[in-house]
Amino acid sequence: MRPYDAILATSSDRPPFPNGSSHERWVPSWCERCGHDRSLYIDGGCPIAFVACEGRTPTEWVRDGDGYTCTEFVEDRGWDTPVPEPEPDPAQGSLDGLIDLYAADLKLEVAV
Ligand code: SF4
Repeated sequence: MRPYDAILATSSDRPPFPNGSSHERWVPSWCERCGHDRSLYIDGGCPIAFVACEGRTPTEWVRDGDGYTCTEFVEDRGWDTPVPEPEPDPAQGSLDGLIDLYAADLKLEVAV
């Protein structure tokens, strides 16, 4: 899954639903059955849903009748099934780079 900033940058500035009732009819079939929604309790939640909550339509939501198909949906199979890891954000530094940075500050050599 793309990071929040990338999803926001490519989203439409139009609200995904005309009213709260449409949203409430769609969510039980999608986000409430999705492993990414469960990640709310692990890593803060689904960035696609966060963008939608800001009144924007993510490109991951493809128009389907009077609702959407979410291209990132993964069936939630319960707490024993790991949630897919998000794709790394290329704008963020790597852990290796961070370790090198601290090692340089401390004048240490670290074998990674
Ligand atoms: S990936 Fe799609 S269906 Fe799943 S929680 Fe996010 S927005 Fe909802």
